Amino acid sequence: MIKGKNAVVTGSTSGIGLGIARALAQAGCNVMLTGLGQAAEIERLRAALAAETGVVVRHDGVDLADSRAVAGMIARAQAALGSVDILANNVGAQHPCPIEDYPLDRYDLMIALNMSAAFHATRAALPQMKARGWGRIINTASAHGLVASVHKGPYIMAKHGVVGLTKTTALEAATFGITCNAICPGWVHTPLVQSQIDTRAQQRGISQDQAIIELVGEKQPNGRMVTVAEIGALAVFLAGDMARSITGVAIPIDGGWTAR
Ligand code: NAD
Repeated sequence: MIKGKNAVVTGSTSGIGLGIARALAQAGCNVMLTGLGQAAEIERLRAALAAETGVVVRHDGVDLADSRAVAGMIARAQAALGSVDILANNVGAQHPCPIEDYPLDRYDLMIALNMSAAFHATRAALPQMKARGWGRIINTASAHGLVASVHKGPYIMAKHGVVGLTKTTALEAATFGITCNAICPGWVHTPLVQSQIDTRAQQRGISQDQAIIELVGEKQPNGRMVTVAEIGALAVFLAGDMARSITGVAIPIDGGWTAR
C-alpha cells in the first residue's frame, strides 16, 4: 500500500511527470510537483490535482538545471510533506542535432536535466529514506537509455547514465528497504515530442498526423504512442510492495522498440 506515502516527481508540470504525479496521487500519495511554467497555470494544475484526488499537492519551482539547487528542493519537500518516500526523477529535455554541430550550452543543459538532476536528488533523498527503512526511486530514462538514434547524442549519453545510476543506487540501497528502477518509454505524445513532430511536419511538408505516423512507425512495432497514464501505472506498481524485489532494472515501455 502506498496510500499516505509522500512523493516528489521532478518535471511534473507537464507530460510524463504529470502523468506519474497524477497516478501516485490517485493511489493516495501526497505529491510535490516540480517544474517551470506560468505561475497561474501551475497553480490551476496543482489545485485541480489536489481537488481530484484529495491528497496534499504542492509545487516547488526549483531550476533543476542548477545542480547546487536540487538538494534544497528535496529538503523543502521533506519539510512540507514530512518525508520523501518516493522520488520520481523524471525531468528531462531534448535538443536533436548532429554531434559536430551540437551547441555547447545545449549539451550542458541535456546532461544537467536528463542525468545530473537525478543524481543530485537521489543523493539528497537517500539518507532519510535509509533512516526510515523504506524508499522508492523511479527514474525516467528512455528507450534511448538502452539503444541509440541519430542526432540525440547528449540525450542518449545522459539516459544511458541514468540507467547506470539506477543500478548503482539499487546496489547501495538494497539492504535499506529501498528499490531503484528506471522506466524506459518509447514515443509519448508530450510537449517534448511535439517539437519533433512540428519539425518533421515542416521539413517534409506533411500533416501533424502523418508526421506522428512516420515517427512512431520508424521505432515502435505496435504503431502507437505510449500514454502518460500507462507510465503512471507502471510507476505506481514499482512503488508498491509487490515490486519490492524488483530493483536495479531498466524497464522498457516502448511498444517493442528495443526488442528489435
Ligand atoms: P515535457 O517537456 O512534457 O515535461 C518536462 C517537464 O520538465 C516540465 O514539467 C518542465 O517544466 C520541466 N522542466 C524543464 N526544464 C526544467 C528546469 N530547468 N527545471 C525544472 N523543471 C524543468 O517532457 P516529457 O516528454 O514529459 O518528458 C519527461 C521525461 O520523460 C524526460 O526525462 C524525457 O527525457 C523522458 N522521455 C520522454 C519521452 C517522450 O516521448 N515524451 C520518451 C522517453 C523518455
